[in-house]
Amino acid sequence: MRMSIEASDFKTNRIQLEPRLLLCLNCKRGGGDVPCSGIDELADEIKVNPDLHITMTGAFDEIGARTEIFDKQTPAQRRKDLHVLQKLGLCFGDTRTARDLLYRISRNIDSIEEICAASNPYRVLDECPLALKGFFIEGNKPLPPAQLPGTMKVYKISSCKALAETDHVVIRAHHLLCIVCYAGRDDNTTPLAEDNLLEAWIKFRENPDIPVTVAEGTRNCCICPPCHSYNQERGICVAACHLRDRRKDLDLCFAVGILPGETYSARELYRRIHARITHIGMICGYKTGTIPEWDSCGGVESGAFERGLEVCRIE
Ligand code: SF4
Ligand code: SF4
Ligand code: SF4
Repeated sequence: MRMSIEASDFKTNRIQLEPRLLLCLNCKRGGGDVPCSGIDELADEIKVNPDLHITMTGAFDEIGARTEIFDKQTPAQRRKDLHVLQKLGLCFGDTRTARDLLYRISRNIDSIEEICAASNPYRVLDECPLALKGFFIEGNKPLPPAQLPGTMKVYKISSCKALAETDHVVIRAHHLLCIVCYAGRDDNTTPLAEDNLLEAWIKFRENPDIPVTVAEGTRNCCICPPCHSYNQERGICVAACHLRDRRKDLDLCFAVGILPGETYSARELYRRIHARITHIGMICGYKTGTIPEWDSCGGVESGAFERGLEVCRIE
């Protein structure tokens, strides 16, 4: 069995950054000659280290009290930092990876005119010479995924072979439910490039007594290896669903009365899922919207899980 780790590098792979510099980073990525120091180094660092943790720091703490940075910044810089945080739904002190931040900027900020241009006649704020040049728009893209299509294909082949040959399956807990959602799709016979849900379903159907170890997280999960968001080296998922997927694993274990790491037959696991999980909102849906990290899965309202329960019987 392939061993991998899920260890955090939060303590050793983290920087502090004033939020507006993320926008300058995009101007740089779009070809601009950015007039602030440190941006070239930041761009180089993120290229090789896209999961760098970045903590938002600046003139205030999270309640608006002044920090030691206040007197080192101009009012224009303080204003830009606050605009960026507001648009991203973050506060000073929050940490996200560079990958998550640049994805969120690409979704939430489509123009920097309001932030960087002196858009009224009083001109009390200096206008950056790049503000109206289009470099930001050009560079405002998410970072490349953890695995590009060529690599995904390689791992699809090797992981499907391993799954077909194994006599002991390891699967991330809530992926047992994703198999049911897959089974409830209109097309539930075409393999997906980005996961092994169909292949695992077939394995369980054909071998209902096979031992299945239920994992908390991605460690050795048979579904993840071909995924665009799977970091092979660290054995972690770098999609933006990190924490909610962690909660789904534990909520499913709790609901069906098992502990992470325990092993049951596929038949027994699906007997419990059929008995206890009557609708997928119990595990994957949240009634109250808060921040993107806690969005409900798009599949919750689709009815796929409920349809899948009809066809995904491991008996
Ligand atoms: S236009 Fe704004 S985001 Fe771009 S380099 Fe200038 S200050 Fe930074
Ligand atoms: S709703 Fe989404 S996360 Fe939940 S089981 Fe279905 S596909 Fe998986
Ligand atoms: S999104 Fe994450 S948890 Fe889901 S299959 Fe991809 S790597 Fe695995």
